[in-house]
Amino acid sequence: MAIHPVIKIHDLAPAKPPVGQPCNGCGICCMVAPCPVSALLLSHKEEACPALIWQAETAVYRCGMLLTPGRFCAWLPAVFNRPFIFLVRRWLALEIGCDSDAQVEISES
Ligand code: SF4
Ligand code: SF4
Repeated sequence: MAIHPVIKIHDLAPAKPPVGQPCNGCGICCMVAPCPVSALLLSHKEEACPALIWQAETAVYRCGMLLTPGRFCAWLPAVFNRPFIFLVRRWLALEIGCDSDAQVEISES
């Protein structure tokens, strides 16, 4: 049976681009399923990732593990923030573009 999670997206968030297009920070993927980083390090199993951050200035969602990882991984010494962020970027393969095939239906409520 298909699963249809209901997620709450900020009104100003950009629409999800097609697979393969550059990531625009729509946040959909991080709201519907854990990525490898969140599953392993944040015990993220369902609903929105606890590290997903809404940036009002730019009206996009950002990965908190790439911005302030120590906020979500208290065990991470501050001195390791930069190499940790480098590893997370590699792990998430951000340069390949949007890899989420989530189908989005918008409903007003
Ligand atoms: S990878 Fe795709 S679904 Fe995820 S935030 Fe980027 S554009 Fe949105
Ligand atoms: S760790 Fe970052 S990329 Fe992964 S689901 Fe959470 S916010 Fe998204």
